[in-house]
Amino acid sequence: MIQIPITMCHGINPKGDYPLTENHFDSLVQIAHTLGFESIDYNDLDAWRHQSQELPDHPIMFDFDHPVKSMRHGIHDVLSRYGYAGNLFINTGLMDEDREGYGTETMTWEEVGELVELGWHMGAHTVTHPNLSELFAEDPTGEKLSWELETCDATLQKYLGIQPRDFAFTGTSWSSIAEKHVMERYRFGRLWIVGAEYQADGEKVRYADLVGVAGEDEADGGPPMAARYITRETPAYRLPSMEIQRPLIYSPEAFRTYLEGSMAG
Ligand SMILES: [Zn+2]
Repeated sequence: MIQIPITMCHGINPKGDYPLTENHFDSLVQIAHTLGFESIDYNDLDAWRHQSQELPDHPIMFDFDHPVKSMRHGIHDVLSRYGYAGNLFINTGLMDEDREGYGTETMTWEEVGELVELGWHMGAHTVTHPNLSELFAEDPTGEKLSWELETCDATLQKYLGIQPRDFAFTGTSWSSIAEKHVMERYRFGRLWIVGAEYQADGEKVRYADLVGVAGEDEADGGPPMAARYITRETPAYRLPSMEIQRPLIYSPEAFRTYLEGSMAG
């Protein structure tokens, strides 16, 4: 069975308990390279799930959320060193040209366009990055949610000429109504694994239960190993991604174990 590892982070971030410097990121990506992994994007994933395209022997997805400055420079520099490209999910509110921080904290639209030319895949991540579970409680008609999705898509279309087909849910809060809207607009929805739990429709749930994977959570504090990879059976709107700045795959040893686990399955 093919199991695709998928990592996630928010760019170079040298703060916190699990700082992600460019050097640390390089040490992890180098492991993927040494093990013979090749990066794929959501188009490759879609074609494979529809049986119309084979994947490389060892596929990996490098996902990133938020259009921060380090994507174009630190992150891209490291990935490109090994022939890799990323999938970036953009919350377009950050990319308002009149906003303080536009072009300094964030990339400019020109820099995002450069990433596209360099082979990066772009996806949608709302406008204002709301908690999707709370947003629905606040507005059960779903109008606010629709505005978030429509406006994000229209902005990416305007500046990049791209109609996004893939979506990353915000935070670790999932809601059934958000998923329904996402299913109407996109072909994939991606979640974010930082531990074994999730918020679903305002309730605390096990991540494994949300995605229908059997088995106990692991000793490292994350869901069962099987829930951490994309397979043909993974629900298209509940794809996993493993946060790098958490103990699950932060150390080179844990990262290697995660990648090697995909090859064993
Ligand atoms: Zn986000």
